[in-house]
Amino acid sequence: MSFVTHLECSWTGARQAAGALATVSAAGKPLWVRYDLEAVGRAMARTDLAARPLDLWRWRELLPLPAGVEPVSLGESATPLLPLSVLGGELGLGELLVKDEGRLPTGSFKARGLAVAVTMARAFGIEAMAIPTNGNAGAALAAYCARAGIAAHCFCPAATPRANLEEIALLGASLEVIDGRIDDCGARVAEGERAGRWFNCATLREPYRIEGKKTMGLELAEQLSWTLPDAIFYPTGGGTGLIGMWKAFEELEALGWIGAKRPRMYAIQSTGCAPLVRAFERGVELAERWPAAATIAHGICVPRALGDFLILRAVRGSGGAALAVSDDAIVAAWRAAASREGMLLCPEGAATLAALRLARERGLVAEGERVVLFNCATHAKYTLPWAAQESANGRSRGGSRAARSPD
Ligand SMILES: *Cc1c(COP(=O)(O)O)cnc(C)c1O
Repeated sequence: MSFVTHLECSWTGARQAAGALATVSAAGKPLWVRYDLEAVGRAMARTDLAARPLDLWRWRELLPLPAGVEPVSLGESATPLLPLSVLGGELGLGELLVKDEGRLPTGSFKARGLAVAVTMARAFGIEAMAIPTNGNAGAALAAYCARAGIAAHCFCPAATPRANLEEIALLGASLEVIDGRIDDCGARVAEGERAGRWFNCATLREPYRIEGKKTMGLELAEQLSWTLPDAIFYPTGGGTGLIGMWKAFEELEALGWIGAKRPRMYAIQSTGCAPLVRAFERGVELAERWPAAATIAHGICVPRALGDFLILRAVRGSGGAALAVSDDAIVAAWRAAASREGMLLCPEGAATLAALRLARERGLVAEGERVVLFNCATHAKYTLPWAAQESANGRSRGGSRAARSPD
């Protein structure tokens, strides 16, 4: 059975029924899915989890699926929490952990949100879905829609990594590349939504992606034996994951499965696209659009986020911060994690490591603390321009050595 009681506007608190297809609230803001947590607590104990498969659906009582609805699944296994002991030691931390989300279906944590959103869309009889995407969300939508027999339409900015465009096309989605940023793509999706062509599942435009993403927080708490780290560094675009984890912690505390202690939440952006950092620093509740956004960390190239106030509330409420790092710092961190820890991060994941360094320098993170970074996608979808260049140089050096070797 489902424990959902209602949907709630995240801005006004107004309630609406959960039984029907939902988009945003009457105020145009994201909707929360609310549960009867007392009933969840009566129906299960956290020790019951031990007998369940280590995947996203083990949290069924805290997910919105109606009774009898089977998940649309591609095998959403729990992701490992890996120590970076060399770099953590250098930074003076008690423990530095990476939650490696790159192992999920389609190679990114977008699978968590879209597995749940597509499952719900199928349950409500939706036949076509569309999404504005920097790549990973589109690939996940395309994959789950292919699985569910739903038509998928993806709108990508011209800067989207090639591997993403190829996987979206291979998965049978329609693909349109737009000369603009992700919010320009969002405008196209909204147009088609108004024309009745598809269901819009852009970030926070429907209430269920966040419920899937929230499982990162549930999983993290369980992996850390129902404690939470001192700080979480999260690469933030639309912010679904950060908002979702914050909601997960609230629900876990209401269930009595964790205490009141919360991690400080750090929203990490690139200096090439840092609307939330600017809003954080100015002390305002809503973020202005960031013009001419550009960064190698495509997943966080989001000039404007519908959930800006929710991200900023979680960051401020937790005593965290929004921090921006340059593409150069991202590359340096990317290399350090790879060559010194054997961890191939995605650039967005590398941004969290770069930001952690900055946070240590600024005294935001204290010696001995336990910190969790989020690596949200596989490295394999991104071209590594500097690496290709270096190996080409290496080859030509090797070649000239070989040529010289006879004498
Ligand atoms: C989408 C994405 C992000 C940002 O996630 P949000 O929860 O939407 O802020 C970060 N990194 C990667 C690799 C992504 O694909």
